[in-house]
Amino acid sequence: MKTTKTLGIGIAFALLGNGVFASEHLHWEYAGKDGPAHWGALGEEFAACQTGRLQAPIDIPVQLAIRNDFPIRPGYQSSSGDIVNNGHTIQVVLADGGSANLSGQDYPIAQFHFHTPAEERVSGKRYPLNAHLVHKSADGTIAVIGIFFKVGAENAVLKNVFLNLPAEESSVPLPEKFDIGSMLPHALSYYKYAGSLTTPPCSEGVTFYILSTPLEISQAQLNAFQKRFHLNARPIKPVNGRMIVYSR
Ligand SMILES: [Zn+2]
Repeated sequence: MKTTKTLGIGIAFALLGNGVFASEHLHWEYAGKDGPAHWGALGEEFAACQTGRLQAPIDIPVQLAIRNDFPIRPGYQSSSGDIVNNGHTIQVVLADGGSANLSGQDYPIAQFHFHTPAEERVSGKRYPLNAHLVHKSADGTIAVIGIFFKVGAENAVLKNVFLNLPAEESSVPLPEKFDIGSMLPHALSYYKYAGSLTTPPCSEGVTFYILSTPLEISQAQLNAFQKRFHLNARPIKPVNGRMIVYSR
């Protein structure tokens, strides 16, 4: 179990690019004594989980959102990669998946992963699953595009992923190249907010672009994921007066 947690935390730190692996032996969970209510007390490195004022996820108060006109400009490309079970989620790590232009800056994609039920909510509405597409700019800034999933038709683009969910502490190569661009909903309208990693160390400075149009997955695909992870969503955190921006 311990090794598993190490991987998840290691990836979080690697994404932050600060090279600090001091917390790699800290164990955390989604329930119980090492659950979300206690993350901030598990170690100094996790303090932001408890004291941070810009924590994620949130329930997006859409009535307070302010409009801007910075469309997401996808520049993704087909890439090889691995499907990784890090003990906290299933992550698809792409070798060279291209980038997205967000608020005028280019953000190369690093990986995407799933939470059940969905972490963000929209005016109280909660979906059964979401994906977080984690991007990192050249200067180390992290931006996440969030996509909700509702139960419906089988998701053909993600078929290979949901058919190859590795067991804990293991990974498998993607059977064929994957293009994030083929996964996105037709409309890229979003809600944007300033947040944090939703897993320890809960580091802030992460910008979220939560797409308002959900995708579909079949009940069988959802079941396959939930067989690996029954619940891997952090509870919502206070908005604390944060500005929410939306774009159509
Ligand atoms: Zn996430």
